[in-house]
Amino acid sequence: KRCIINSGVITELMDALRRGKIRIVYLTQPLHEGTPVIRLPEPFANDPGFKKQLLSRYDEKGPAWYWNWLIVGEHTGTHFDAPCHWVTGKDKASVDAVPPERLVGPAAVIDVREQVNNDPDYLLRLEEIQAWEKAHGQIPENSWVLMRTGWSQHGDDAERFLNVGADGRPHWPGFSEESAAFLTQQRSVLGVGTEAVGTDGASAADHVPPFPNHRIMHGAGKYGLTSLINLDQLPPLGALLIAAPLKIRGGSGSPSRVLALVPG
Ligand code: MN
Repeated sequence: KRCIINSGVITELMDALRRGKIRIVYLTQPLHEGTPVIRLPEPFANDPGFKKQLLSRYDEKGPAWYWNWLIVGEHTGTHFDAPCHWVTGKDKASVDAVPPERLVGPAAVIDVREQVNNDPDYLLRLEEIQAWEKAHGQIPENSWVLMRTGWSQHGDDAERFLNVGADGRPHWPGFSEESAAFLTQQRSVLGVGTEAVGTDGASAADHVPPFPNHRIMHGAGKYGLTSLINLDQLPPLGALLIAAPLKIRGGSGSPSRVLALVPG
């Protein structure tokens, strides 16, 4: 019995981790009071961001223990968008209903840093996906498709991250209507992930109808990941991504620890 338990892929995985043949890369920003969150114009409600309130810290309220309680929006920092986040997915999964096997999948990383350097409002074009597929083969089943934009170089400073221009409007890159349509209709992805504050580019607010990536992805029951970091440490293909949102009953999303297993 013991031999059977100790043989197989999990043992091989543990051995590879121990020997450094697989590295674990954090794709997650720290949560703090300054964590950038999307800012919607009047009359829309806004995410409160993150606040940590002290319960006790080795003091009269708790002499041997330290703990806090939190105020945090579901869509704060590195976070997971569940299908019911969008009206097109309102009858689809809330964050607690996402099956665990759909939190884990291969990462297909599309490098568009040059395009984003030239245009912070860059939206992922079909030709970039096609170029990636020409180099690496068809996007695998149940992949997370990640946009490597270099946006995480802005750290988590809200002004730089949201990049409000002289026009008074934010500018950050994102997925497009055509990329969302292709990835939901022609490929079978888990969802998409980005380094910026939302999966749609900032300009998507002006799109008619607005936020096409949200509309199409969540309408198709797919997920989103935002404010990812360290995408420069992932190969274009070959990393395994693990997203771990809180299991909030009926929730629309959640701050998440996102990790990747990468060949060492
Ligand atoms: Mn979100």
